[in-house]
Amino acid sequence: MSVLSDRHFHDEAAAYKFVEARIWPNGPVCPHCGGFERIAKMEGKSTRIGTYKCYQCRKPFTVKIGTIFEASHVKLNHWLQAIFLIASSKKGISSNQLHRTLGVTLKTAWFISHRIGEAMRDGKLGPLGGNGMIVEARLARRTSAPFSA
Ligand SMILES: [Zn+2]
Repeated sequence: MSVLSDRHFHDEAAAYKFVEARIWPNGPVCPHCGGFERIAKMEGKSTRIGTYKCYQCRKPFTVKIGTIFEASHVKLNHWLQAIFLIASSKKGISSNQLHRTLGVTLKTAWFISHRIGEAMRDGKLGPLGGNGMIVEARLARRTSAPFSA
């Protein structure tokens, strides 16, 4: 049983829930105007997963805006897998390994690892790095090791 069998690594909607809970612990906040009182989740078949609309500024948004996931077509669950793999590997993960593990193109794998690497160096993973993903990834690795640090 691998940690990677968690739903948010395989299901895009679950990945959104996972990230939203960390970036918006008190509920969705509009990245355009900072509003949080008049926000509705957009539903319907033609709506992309995780889309909200702010009725204060009338703009749509997702939790990706303002994060390392912004402006990419990579599925959020793939991002989470990549962060987990990179954070829990001592030697780092090559683009080739990511490409094979995630089943994305080599170009996409390179893009993902470049962006995550940059964010980790700059300490810009935010809540995903601070008390979310990275910590969890490290804990997961520690509990599977028979020694204490
Ligand atoms: Zn707004």
